[in-house]
Amino acid sequence: MTQAPETEASLPLRKLCTDCGLSRTAEPQRCGQACQFIRPDYPRMERQVHGRARFLPSAQTPTDELHFGPLQAMWQARLRAPLPGAQWTGITTRIAERLLDSGSVDAVICMRPHPDDRWRPQAVVVTRAQDMAACRGMRMGYAPLLSQIEPALQRGLRRLAVIGIPCQVYPLRAIEDQLRREHGLQSLYVIGLPCSDNTHTERFHEFLALLSPEPQRIAYLEFRADYRVEIRTDDGRQRLIPFLQLPLSDLPADFFPTTCRTCVDYTNALADVTVGYMGGRGEQWVLVRNARGQHMLDLLGDELLLTPPSSAGRRTGAVRGFLANLQRAAGGLPIRRMPAWARPLVGWLMPRIGPRGLEFARARVEMKALETLVHLRRDMPARVRSMVPEHVFRLARAYGLVQAPHERPAKAPPPPG
Ligand SMILES: Cc1cc2nc3c(=O)[nH]c(=O)nc-3n(C[C@H](O)[C@H](O)[C@H](O)COP(=O)(O)OP(=O)(O)OC[C@H]3O[C@@H](n4cnc5c(N)ncnc54)[C@H](O)[C@@H]3O)c2cc1C
Ligand code: SF4
Ligand code: SF4
Repeated sequence: MTQAPETEASLPLRKLCTDCGLSRTAEPQRCGQACQFIRPDYPRMERQVHGRARFLPSAQTPTDELHFGPLQAMWQARLRAPLPGAQWTGITTRIAERLLDSGSVDAVICMRPHPDDRWRPQAVVVTRAQDMAACRGMRMGYAPLLSQIEPALQRGLRRLAVIGIPCQVYPLRAIEDQLRREHGLQSLYVIGLPCSDNTHTERFHEFLALLSPEPQRIAYLEFRADYRVEIRTDDGRQRLIPFLQLPLSDLPADFFPTTCRTCVDYTNALADVTVGYMGGRGEQWVLVRNARGQHMLDLLGDELLLTPPSSAGRRTGAVRGFLANLQRAAGGLPIRRMPAWARPLVGWLMPRIGPRGLEFARARVEMKALETLVHLRRDMPARVRSMVPEHVFRLARAYGLVQAPHERPAKAPPPPG
């Protein structure tokens, strides 16, 4: 296993940048055409990766692709024997292990916990299936994943798998052709994670300190689809905190960087397979996007239990309430808070009557689209035109945020190389 030498301290200075690693390669100028935050072209990239852009719904042909991107199949899923230390049941890790031990790839490029701070991601190149166990679990923060790719190819590791979040996968796909032509890449499997509300690791430690008098003992944290945050500590204890009782109002306004408030691809539409939890009703949620994604699921055989995803509740009221608060906050007004006495009751009700399963996932994707538009319009209005894809506008339109003529997306330049 080899690791990235860089630290967060040497983050590049571009304002919208999550340090995906491209700026640390020998050709940092590729960022201009490959970055998700500059001028993404999702329809073209979806065609390049999946052979077609996402279908948009009509009255005759309803589809979830507007929300979730190109789909071949979608599942509620879990490993029959969950992997210890995994974020959920460990489907992501197990796919990577099977890719390595079946000889399908020479290396997997992903994140493991930094030796000095378990919450800080560190990019690594893994060549042995048994080393994937050390990469299980979710870290909060950014690390330069893509700077590992060309060095791995130079070492002769030409068949690669990459596990990444959306702002890493977009630039990876943008340079994929060039990697094949100029750097000897022979094959690439991409396992994507959905991603929202990430922040710098230092900031995340501030959040942990609000949750517990002993934040250093928190070993696991997840925002679950049942509207509760789950925390596990080193001594094996578990605590569930309803979202409504989180100390979010104590966080500084800049807790989430502008990147994570304005990114446009929650569900990682350019991955071959996306492994998350939002549509999983307490289990995992797997979105197969193409034949490579299906091949990766097939490698798990009957270790993997699959059920068709389901849906309950209605999202519209929750999303409208979210937008109203976003707009109040963006206008400098205090957000409307529920009285303290009502929070336990609503916290009890939400998992029972709120949107669940796919409806929960649709709600979160819509909230993210609205957040992107409200924040970009307020903080960087000139970026809306080049950064916000058509599908995000379509999602926001249902809630009255309409694309202005000057916000029509400009045509994107071709990918680098
Ligand atoms: C910052 C962040 C936010 C997320 N938000 C959502 C969400 O809103 N909705 C949702 O459905 N899913 C989200 N996920 C994905 C979810 O937390 C799980 O990672 C996913 O469901 C896979 O679970 P698993 O048990 O299969 O993973 P495991 O088998 O435990 O593997 C986890 C993998 O995640 C990778 N990883 C960990 N931290 C990072 C990081 N900071 N950057 C890049 N890669 C990392 C590791 O390389 C590892 O391979 C998020 C993940 C991250 C990292
Ligand atoms: S491509 Fe990556 S390194 Fe370059 S600006 Fe974008 S996020 Fe930063
Ligand atoms: S929320 Fe968006 S910008 Fe932030 S880390 Fe996740 S994918 Fe990247």
